[in-house]
Amino acid sequence: MMKIKAAVVQQQNADFEIKDDIELAEMGPDDIQVHMVASGICHSDEALRIGDAIIDYPIVLGHEGSGIVEKVGPEVTQFQPGDHVVLSFYACGNCKSCLKGIPTQCENYAHNNLSGIRPDGTSHFTENGQHIADMFDQSSFTTTTVVRERNAVKVDKALDLRKLGPLGCGYVTGSGTVLNTLKPRPGDTIAVFGTGAVGLAAMMAGRISGCVKVIGIDIVDSRLELAKELGATDTINSKGIDVVQAVKDLTGGRGVDWAVDTTGVTAVMESSIKVLAQGGTTATIAVTPHHIDVDTWNDLCVDDKKIVGVNMGDSIPQIDIPRLIDFYKMGLFDFDKTEKFYSFDQINEANADSRSGKTIKPVLVIDETYVPGE
Ligand SMILES: [Zn+2]
Ligand SMILES: [Zn+2]
Repeated sequence: MMKIKAAVVQQQNADFEIKDDIELAEMGPDDIQVHMVASGICHSDEALRIGDAIIDYPIVLGHEGSGIVEKVGPEVTQFQPGDHVVLSFYACGNCKSCLKGIPTQCENYAHNNLSGIRPDGTSHFTENGQHIADMFDQSSFTTTTVVRERNAVKVDKALDLRKLGPLGCGYVTGSGTVLNTLKPRPGDTIAVFGTGAVGLAAMMAGRISGCVKVIGIDIVDSRLELAKELGATDTINSKGIDVVQAVKDLTGGRGVDWAVDTTGVTAVMESSIKVLAQGGTTATIAVTPHHIDVDTWNDLCVDDKKIVGVNMGDSIPQIDIPRLIDFYKMGLFDFDKTEKFYSFDQINEANADSRSGKTIKPVLVIDETYVPGE
């Protein structure tokens, strides 16, 4: 069994601990072995570390990996050694939802991605033979992992692979919520609460969709500056003000056609309903333990507003990630402006910077010898 380096969270709230004696599962016939180049850190990694959501402990987190294929199993058809890949979630491909082309609703989604074991029920990682949980059948906070070929998306080798991992979760979630789920028409208006990676991706997607108002809302001025640079037409610092009135003021008193909440804060999620125009829809997509109170009569019946949930931006990674890369090449999706590189052993510092808001999207460079374009 191959030994790898991995960042392990031993118990709820523990720091990441990098260990070099973690045993990696043997490859299955439709697995690929990936040499990890980099991995983004996502807020759902943090939710699982602190126990806002729980799979199991000890656990190897990380689900925004990018790397180079080292080996392929005998049944793999889409990849060969040397391919550059971005990793995403795993969908079975055989259930009714997968067959309908909606892998984010895979009937086995929770088992495949959030149960801590591989889809076939075996351990992905062990230490001295003891089970360690995985995430998304991926666990990218590792030097090497094995994933099903359906977890992987091939990307252009000319691009800087270190930047691309977060396309597999945060960016595809924010942009997919707008492009796949809400589907604004040109001329519509949208408000996005929160200027993290997911919120900024939603704003860029609002711009790509032809929205004439893309309103970015947060309480940190420096992040609102970046929101403007990336796609927001207007920004609101909602600290201490009536945000519903502020959105109405920007939309001729009408409210917005679409809203996205990425904060998961109860009052903010509720505001995302109040800022809607009649017939408008809000998508609440944060990983949060908080609930909301809805005025079903006035908001849902009389004003015909809708609240939708969205998993992973209703995305099909193999279609949506190459699409985002095309938008990036056109200058319409500058996701890399949110990223900051850290070394693998700075993982706790990188995660703390994400928590405090100092860094929007930390990316761990796991292979420091990687040179872009070679
Ligand atoms: Zn994520
Ligand atoms: Zn399925």
